Amino acid sequence: MATINIIDVKKNYGAVPAVKGINLSVADGELIVLVGPSGCGKSTLLRMIAGLETISEGHVEIAGRNVNKAEPADRDIAMVFQNYALYPHMTVRGNLEYGLKNRGTERAEINRRVAEAAEILEIGPMLDRKPRELSGGQRQRVAMGRAIVREPAAFLFDEPLSNLDAKLRVQMRVEIRRLQRRLRTTSIYVTHDQLEAMTLADRLVVMNGGLVEQVGTPVAVYDRPASLFVASFIGSPPMNLVPIDVLRAADSASALALPADTDMVGLRPDALLVTKPVEPFVRLNATVELLEPIGGESHLHVRLRGSQQTVVLTVPGRPDFAENANIDVFARVGAMHPFNSDTGKRTDDSGFFNSSSRPR
Ligand code: ADP
Repeated sequence: MATINIIDVKKNYGAVPAVKGINLSVADGELIVLVGPSGCGKSTLLRMIAGLETISEGHVEIAGRNVNKAEPADRDIAMVFQNYALYPHMTVRGNLEYGLKNRGTERAEINRRVAEAAEILEIGPMLDRKPRELSGGQRQRVAMGRAIVREPAAFLFDEPLSNLDAKLRVQMRVEIRRLQRRLRTTSIYVTHDQLEAMTLADRLVVMNGGLVEQVGTPVAVYDRPASLFVASFIGSPPMNLVPIDVLRAADSASALALPADTDMVGLRPDALLVTKPVEPFVRLNATVELLEPIGGESHLHVRLRGSQQTVVLTVPGRPDFAENANIDVFARVGAMHPFNSDTGKRTDDSGFFNSSSRPR
């Protein structure tokens, strides 16, 4: 087990900066998820940690050792990729043993580690099969098994579930989480899927354009996104972002006090209600556009009075709203996220507003 420190790390491909200066400390046993849209530099950062990509500036420490010049094989890490990278002509057992044999590990020790990994991953009955005789989920487990038998200081996961179908992805996500909890191996996991990131991470690192936008527990990031980018990237359906003049045009009371420099308010779909709450609220007049039932709840799309702005509410059940009906929706003041659209940042960092949603 080990800590990983990423210090002022940059990567340029020729003149093109892919990673623009990242600092991050991963604690021993922690599972960190790097999340962000395609092209934000997640894989490049992970590959620099793995040694698969050179570092243009800064350095990476694994277990207190500067590994900038170390070969991938000498970094004491194991990587799990989306394409599994299994040897097709070898059995599962052969795939699990291969790296250990190459390192000259003793036979008894190889057998012990393979048996243990097979038990943890429940792939014992498949040890004599070839990869082509396995399902996608089973192959991914073998790929994880190959990482486990190495007993590395850290696991690095590069979108390991993106080749699996939706149901299997959810199942494997739970398995990876359980596995990491059991082994307590320091892990860095890359995904573009915000839901996968939310459910797996001890801490999220939200990246954008080669930089870190925010680091925190999934709940802290969800409850208090530091920027408009994070606000719109984390959460599904995404947070509604409403300019304050649009909000005021639809608001019958117009007495809302917001922090200085606020010109945009973020409202999660569950912070907007169709019935009047007991807590402080702003009443907004709106027109029903669409009701999308998604099972036990529905997404209600409404257009705010005085503008073309549509917002989405998550409402319980399948309420009977007619298209074009005029309704009031209630925005919970305590759940409003105030932003400045020029800086892209929150405007309540001093904490005098919305203090109820600060991370505990
Ligand atoms: P992500 O993993 O977040 O999708 P990447 O780390 O793959 O992003 O890429 C970050 C940026 O670096 C992108 O703009 C991408 O086009 C660029 N990039 C990645 N690999 C290379 C490469 N080998 N050569 C040139 N540009 C690259």
